[in-house]
Amino acid sequence: MFDKNNRHINYLRISITDHCNLRCQYCLPETDNSFSNKNDLLNADDIEKIVRATALIGIEKVRITGGEPLIRTDFLEILKRINSVKEIKKIAITTNGFNLLNNLDEFSKNGLNRINISLDSLNSDKYKKITRGGDFEQVMNSIKESSNGNFERIRINVVIMKGINDDEIFDFVNLTRELNIGVRFIELMPIGEGKRFTSMKNLEILDIIKSKYTLERDAVEKTDGPASYYKISNFRGEIGFISPLSNRFCESCNRIRVTSNGFLKLCLHYNQGIDLIPYLRSNTSIETLSEIIKNAIYNKPKEHQMNCNSQDNTIETKRMNEIGG
Ligand code: SAM
Repeated sequence: MFDKNNRHINYLRISITDHCNLRCQYCLPETDNSFSNKNDLLNADDIEKIVRATALIGIEKVRITGGEPLIRTDFLEILKRINSVKEIKKIAITTNGFNLLNNLDEFSKNGLNRINISLDSLNSDKYKKITRGGDFEQVMNSIKESSNGNFERIRINVVIMKGINDDEIFDFVNLTRELNIGVRFIELMPIGEGKRFTSMKNLEILDIIKSKYTLERDAVEKTDGPASYYKISNFRGEIGFISPLSNRFCESCNRIRVTSNGFLKLCLHYNQGIDLIPYLRSNTSIETLSEIIKNAIYNKPKEHQMNCNSQDNTIETKRMNEIGG
């Protein structure tokens, strides 16, 4: 379907939990334990209903995110339910790599096409510090193993923060020499804990990389997301840049989000949307739910206001682990 600004909306991101096994410093506070009770999270039935209802209005791609989606013990069931919706052509996940390694075959068999793995340092001690406890070897093994598997795309999401990991830009670029993966630099957004760190603009990162390598714009222009991609001659992988702040892509935004508590979000940065739980846990038909979602999507905000110091009270205050990134 198209919204009132004529954007083609075909991509749904569902956060299936706000819980996480890690506490990345720019994402979650160290001690706050205000996570949802299990009953307040979307269950597999709810998720299937949302996917069926949104598929009726043109959603073709679903990304499962969190919190950490792979801490859900019913993850495989959720994946199977999404995969049973015939209109869905792509199923993707964003994960920190937890519980991935031993499940790759099962996930691939059940429709998972694309995996994004978040990794903000290639130094094991620093990784542990940023994530407050993460196991670097485990993530790296998951990345290597999944890049040899049956998946269409494996990508690493890196958030570069000044004074924290900005000395590792070339190390990340070098990963694409041998591995057939995409390394994507995502600008830190001033949301929640992210406000405590200094982001690095992607143009700066691009200039640093260009000081050593010739970058070729990836010949295959990806049409399904906001990243710009480049390749280095003879490197197997590619390098991507997602620049929500320095190069807003709202004009081509094709996505909607559902939080782990079943709130349909129309823009990452706004709190506007609809609580879907009453519809999901009543006798509302999929067709009615679909109409309700369609009407909401039509009014999707035109653009985010990050970095505008706006006092607008519709600006989102939820944390990234609820929203799903
Ligand atoms: N646990 C999963 C993971 O680590 O990928 C999925 C959830 S996590 C919230 C999704 C993505 O959001 C991660 O790639 C993380 O780096 C990113 N993220 C969290 N806070 C952010 C911020 N303030 N700005 C930009 N990206 C952020």
